Amino acid sequence: MSSPSEGKCPVEMSKGTCGRSTARDNRCIFHLGNKDQAEAQEFAKLFPEELNTLEARGDIDLSHFEFPGEVTEFLGRILSKNIIFSRAVFEKKVYFYGTEFKEADFWHTTFKDEADFREATFTATANFSEAIFEAGADFTLTKFNAFARLRKARFLKPRSVVFDQNQMNNVSFLHTEGLSEVTLRSVQWPTDKGRCRLIDEDLMMEGEQDATYVNIADVYRRLRRNYESRVRYSDAGSFFKSEMEMRRMQVAPGKKLVDKVRRNLLSAIGWYNLLSVYGESPSRVAVCALAVFGVFSFWRFLVTPLPINPCLTQLVSAAMNSIERTILVFFQLKSEDFSDGIERILSALLLTLSAVTLRRQLERHR
Ligand SMILES: [Zn+2]
Repeated sequence: MSSPSEGKCPVEMSKGTCGRSTARDNRCIFHLGNKDQAEAQEFAKLFPEELNTLEARGDIDLSHFEFPGEVTEFLGRILSKNIIFSRAVFEKKVYFYGTEFKEADFWHTTFKDEADFREATFTATANFSEAIFEAGADFTLTKFNAFARLRKARFLKPRSVVFDQNQMNNVSFLHTEGLSEVTLRSVQWPTDKGRCRLIDEDLMMEGEQDATYVNIADVYRRLRRNYESRVRYSDAGSFFKSEMEMRRMQVAPGKKLVDKVRRNLLSAIGWYNLLSVYGESPSRVAVCALAVFGVFSFWRFLVTPLPINPCLTQLVSAAMNSIERTILVFFQLKSEDFSDGIERILSALLLTLSAVTLRRQLERHR
């Protein structure tokens, strides 16, 4: 059963057919799955030399490789070539601690044990799409200097996956499994106008198909939940704003005036933003309340019947009456004409929103 054969390994790798001599079951020692102890030892003996040879030749193609034991060959290594691990399987822990990568392709790589990427640097594109992390992964101080695609990556034990002290400007988490539970410590998210703004929004502007308002809103929603579950409401608020922004844009995404009017003035979410920045800004609610108050007081003053040459006392009296009426209407205590009705609707909205925003602020300081 384990007798070596003379054949050539037929595994299709990223850069062509393997063609190495087969060890068993029509596979070379590197592509052979379920290695026994002797085969694992053989792999461990041959792999370092194989890695050096491949690196000297060009892109390091390790696709479909089956790593049977702990992998330490990449520890602190500065790779001079791009590396491909697509569909490779790591049975035991793999150490990429301090490794400096050029382009790195982990498409559909399976990590059955822990993956240590601490202090690793990706100087070019890092592709983890559809990678499967069956155990923990540590990305403490990992640097993603170019686009890092963690899309559709699957963190099956998300609470054991750690991101700490990372700059997330280049990272895409579209459809990443376990995102609402991964451990996020001192992570720096890219921000714009007081909210988080992930790279996917830029890619959407460039016309990328997978980056849609719906998909990006989903990423923000799961990050919000993540922070909420850790009682980090301020961070959660930033992601909530971004989530709502995506939903508001989705109402009418175009750049024309008619689209802007539709999403800002003809939608509930547009008004939610205008009046309270999605319930996140008590000061916005206060400014709007003052504006409503000022406009209605002034209007009532203008329409107060006065003599042709009123004296100062009459003017002051008219102003006081207008303000008093506005206060009564604002707090829903009076309703006589059409303008009262309009003010009551606006004030009811603002009073509700002030309750919502204040509740959120209090929750954060509990
Ligand atoms: Zn092979």
